[in-house]
Amino acid sequence: MEVNKMNSKYEDVIIGLEVHIQLTNLKTKLFCSCNNEYRGKEPNTHVCPICLGLPGSLPVINKISVEFATRLALALGCDINESFWFFRKNYFYPDMAKNFQISQYNKAGGRAFADGGKITIKLNSKKKELQLNRIHLEEDPARLVHKGSIATSPYALVDYNRSGVTLIEIVSDPVMNSPEEAREYLKQLKSIVQYTEISDLDLDGSCRVDANISIKGHARSEVKNINSFKEVERALKWEIQRQKNLLKRGKELIQETRHWDDKRRVTIGLRTKEFEKDYRYFPEQDLVPIEITKDFIEQVKKKLPEMPNARAKRFQKDYQLSEFDSEILVLDKDIADFYENGVKSEKSFGPDEYKQYCNWLMGDISRWLNENNNVIKETKLTPKHLVDLIKLINEGEITGKIAKTFVNEMMKGTPILEIVKKSGKSRIADKNKITKIVEEVIKENRDIVNDYQKNPRALEALIGKCMKKTKGQLDPEITRKIVLEFLKK
Ligand SMILES: [Zn+2]
Repeated sequence: MEVNKMNSKYEDVIIGLEVHIQLTNLKTKLFCSCNNEYRGKEPNTHVCPICLGLPGSLPVINKISVEFATRLALALGCDINESFWFFRKNYFYPDMAKNFQISQYNKAGGRAFADGGKITIKLNSKKKELQLNRIHLEEDPARLVHKGSIATSPYALVDYNRSGVTLIEIVSDPVMNSPEEAREYLKQLKSIVQYTEISDLDLDGSCRVDANISIKGHARSEVKNINSFKEVERALKWEIQRQKNLLKRGKELIQETRHWDDKRRVTIGLRTKEFEKDYRYFPEQDLVPIEITKDFIEQVKKKLPEMPNARAKRFQKDYQLSEFDSEILVLDKDIADFYENGVKSEKSFGPDEYKQYCNWLMGDISRWLNENNNVIKETKLTPKHLVDLIKLINEGEITGKIAKTFVNEMMKGTPILEIVKKSGKSRIADKNKITKIVEEVIKENRDIVNDYQKNPRALEALIGKCMKKTKGQLDPEITRKIVLEFLKK
């Protein structure tokens, strides 16, 4: 029902995404040796004649940028072109001091860095392959800082530290049919980028998305500069609704560029769309064509780690995890690495513990990370901590319920045994002790006991009361048995 409703809502929607990713793991910019890291730095201090576009300065390609682009192209299954050259994309705007951006162009004799490729997503447990069009390299423009919103700001400040940072643009075909598909596409892309180690997309401003959105048979709009992956789904939903409302009122849509205002959460029309000819693309004569040899590609391939899809398949085999568990587990490389380090370090672990370890990571640990807006490598939790915790639970030293209350302390790196000692919360399995507590609870809750004849669920209520009295320390199995014995009397 839910699925049908969604399909009918979006069946005539066509979405294509252009994702710009900064290669934040590079040390220097694309065409000069200025420091690539501009975040938190004094504005306009990481600049030189090249990234300021001063007359007479000559760009030189950063070889590592080409290697990083090759890594991504291989991971996405693109066809890498054996040679390419850069183009000038001309436009007049304060974020580009030389009035053109050095980019790539796949027409007029030019080529993308790589063509094709695909990203596989899973939505409502159905797999779908989303076709990519191409990826290419280009330089990032400077950063414009507006007071308040772009539409109302009385002035703009320019920081050229960002000017010349390497961007990779990943262009999809118009193959997505809903904001949810776009969300899953970006989730997979983020994972692949993390595995190739070319960029940290958790850094603010490291990715920007332009989305082409249309309703079948009508003009499309391009929503520019959606500044985080999280905003994309929201922006798409809003824009689709806007277009549908206009059509409902009998208006026709125009081809235009719109801006996503993430504060007001609406798209605003900025200008009617420029056409490609407005950019007057022509080859960049200051740079020689770049050759990519088969040898070079082979060398890069050898250095690539196992990619998430292959890893998920291996996790199913090596750790007997379900397809569902493995696919979620491998999505974040750091989490997947943590998992493997943990389960491999303990020889006594088998399939039951592998699953337990996975549940802890995907459950309580991930929840803690989300709530605290943190990532696992920034915490003091080690794979060994989680091994120790699971062993204590399985040896009956603590209950799973109590273990859950340890998460906060564990994330600070406190050894499990120390937490158990400090909390005084080891498991109570002593029959006499449990009987005494059950006796008390039965006395205090005659009404629930009387209710038991008509309502068998009263049993759970009584066990709950015993747990509450001891802050969850009682062994649940033994407690259940003893409560039942009392009720049968
Ligand atoms: Zn520079």
